[in-house]
Amino acid sequence: MSGSALFETFARAPLSFERGEGCWLIDAEGRRYLDFAGGIAVNSLGHSHPALVAALTEQAGKLWHVSNLYEIPGQTRLAERLVASTFADKVFFTNSGAEALECAIKTARRYQYVSGHPERFRTITFEGAFHGRTLATIAAGGQAKYLEGFGPKVEGFDQVPFGDIDAAEKAITPETAAILIEPVQGEGGIREVSAQSLKRLRELCDSHGLLLIFDEVQCGIGRTGKLFAYERSGVAPDLMAIAKGIGGGFPVGACLATDAAAVGMTPGVHGTTFGGNPLAMAVGNAVLDVVLADGFLDDVARKALLLKQGLAAVADEFPEVIEDIRGVGLMLGVRCRIANTKLMAALRDERMLTVTAGDNVVRLLPPLVVTDEEIREAVMRIRNAAATLSPPVAPVAAAQ
Ligand SMILES: *Cc1c(COP(=O)(O)O)cnc(C)c1O
Repeated sequence: MSGSALFETFARAPLSFERGEGCWLIDAEGRRYLDFAGGIAVNSLGHSHPALVAALTEQAGKLWHVSNLYEIPGQTRLAERLVASTFADKVFFTNSGAEALECAIKTARRYQYVSGHPERFRTITFEGAFHGRTLATIAAGGQAKYLEGFGPKVEGFDQVPFGDIDAAEKAITPETAAILIEPVQGEGGIREVSAQSLKRLRELCDSHGLLLIFDEVQCGIGRTGKLFAYERSGVAPDLMAIAKGIGGGFPVGACLATDAAAVGMTPGVHGTTFGGNPLAMAVGNAVLDVVLADGFLDDVARKALLLKQGLAAVADEFPEVIEDIRGVGLMLGVRCRIANTKLMAALRDERMLTVTAGDNVVRLLPPLVVTDEEIREAVMRIRNAAATLSPPVAPVAAAQ
């Protein structure tokens, strides 16, 4: 055996944590790190949230798993709550984001199939997208670095430049079934799609008989200050994949659909062993209890403004390090002039955790329960990190 017993697929930082409290991760030596990576938008309520711990431990004492061959009351409840809060009429639970996307893509193809259009199976996607690591979702994401060496790309995905709705229109063929887009690109560099663009996509789908699929795996569950990012645009999809934040750290994903879009998903055509398991549903319901509580999302929006203003001041102070601040809600990107990995490393030295993204961006995805004080602390650490990377002030030319 060479090196670790693990697949070498992750370039892991030399850090390991023993426990977490809210926005803090603590290593075995008691060192505290301010966690603005948030498990990549997974730890929506931070670490060890008492309501989540209670929900999980209570369910663990009752029942862990039953097959989807039986009724699962927690699943029905979580589905009804998601339906009540969104465009959707129906929900299919999964264990991950990629599986939620697989379900959405399959549901769109089945819709066309049972609607008399078996020839429509293709999905239009956008450059910079990330939809997961299964064979179909790497084809949907279209990134060469994730496709290389894995054999023929799964058939049925056509990619157009980010934000180019004219290109999307031109890419529609008699074989097109759906258009898939992240309302705010996460891995692609925290890039929001304009409301105007989403509206045009909705119109294209309606006029061509296509389904509109939103991937809110990263931007959903309160991240933008709305329960779902699409609410900001007023444009509703036919299908939506969610995951990450809905489980608060427990693996949960879901595909949401209108009745019309789910028409082809009849008994036996799709399934999962673990998806919607009682433990996952107990946690998912507990996450919604907190996120849907009165005033929670408004407070996310307020805190997001505080963070963005603080970051803007740091960007003004260190223009040779930071080019701009982008993003919405607590899904912010620091676009760097230096390599984004350098800023992330300098922040780690300040004991603050972040995650890189495309377009030379450092992503900030703090738990939604972050406090004002922690936001000020984060801004200070980012300022300190930027200062260490900023070139010293050029000396005034010496008098001859
Ligand atoms: C993380 C992510 C996925 C994939 O989710 P997994 O749980 O890793 O399979 C899909 N889409 C988006 C936008 C994501 O951020």
